[in-house]
Amino acid sequence: MDRPAPPVTRFAPSPNGHLHLGHALSAIVAHDLARADGGRFLLRIEDIDGPRSRPELADAFRSDLAWLGLEWEEVSAQSTRLASYAAAAETLRERGLIYPCTCTRSEIEAAGARPGLEGLIYPGTCKHRAPDPARPAAWRLDAQMALAQTGPLVWEDARAGPQQVDLSGLGDVVLVRKDLPASYHLAVTLDDAADGVTLVTRGADLFAASHVHRTLQALLDLPVPRWHHHPLLLGPDGEKLAKRRGSPALAERRAGGEDGRMLAQQLRMQLLSLGT
Ligand code: GLU
Ligand code: ZN
Repeated sequence: MDRPAPPVTRFAPSPNGHLHLGHALSAIVAHDLARADGGRFLLRIEDIDGPRSRPELADAFRSDLAWLGLEWEEVSAQSTRLASYAAAAETLRERGLIYPCTCTRSEIEAAGARPGLEGLIYPGTCKHRAPDPARPAAWRLDAQMALAQTGPLVWEDARAGPQQVDLSGLGDVVLVRKDLPASYHLAVTLDDAADGVTLVTRGADLFAASHVHRTLQALLDLPVPRWHHHPLLLGPDGEKLAKRRGSPALAERRAGGEDGRMLAQQLRMQLLSLGT
């Protein structure tokens, strides 16, 4: 049998806050999995989050990665790819796979939406009504229509094994935001395909998103990568480490003179103990 092609992995941070330990772990996983098999490790700045995006943070990210002892190839930032998102959305629109939704968060709550794997499951209010043209609209995937077109789909996670696509815990997710030509789901799927990413690595908190991404790959005829969702680092309270809960930024530790390569080694040891 042919040897599998060396993997292409990526780290795709959003410059809306400094990187913390959880990000370092994600970057190390992506870097090490590529290096172990002679592959490529890419950095992509996911900077389309409008006003929350702070371009100066991208420079801090590069310094953080270098401080951890990682080497990468940087690919285009998301803000340069808006036309490709708009083109894909148009294709989906023409095929009736997305529909406009003018609901606000409070309207969705008031409609009795159930909690799903990623926030509330959209109750479908706008699916069967003409949108009010005076209100801004997001565009949602018609999950039922999508799965009727694709048929059953599977994807493969390196740790969790084969997965059947199941959108029932997610519902009709937003693919085009009210303020942007894409949502995270659409942008990341198109970018990973455009960048030739063959092994998508990210935290287990984004596991469910891969059901959406696999569906989009089928609908848009994109290559299908493999996935590796790594376990999350937990804080002393057992909660996920997140910047909002005050875990120290890598930039702060770097400025404080800590040895980044040593920290990276410690994180690799923790990964082993987490079983990855
Ligand atoms: N920009 C996303 C984040 O920082 C990337 C997630 C992913 O790797 O798919 O959470
Ligand atoms: Zn709606």
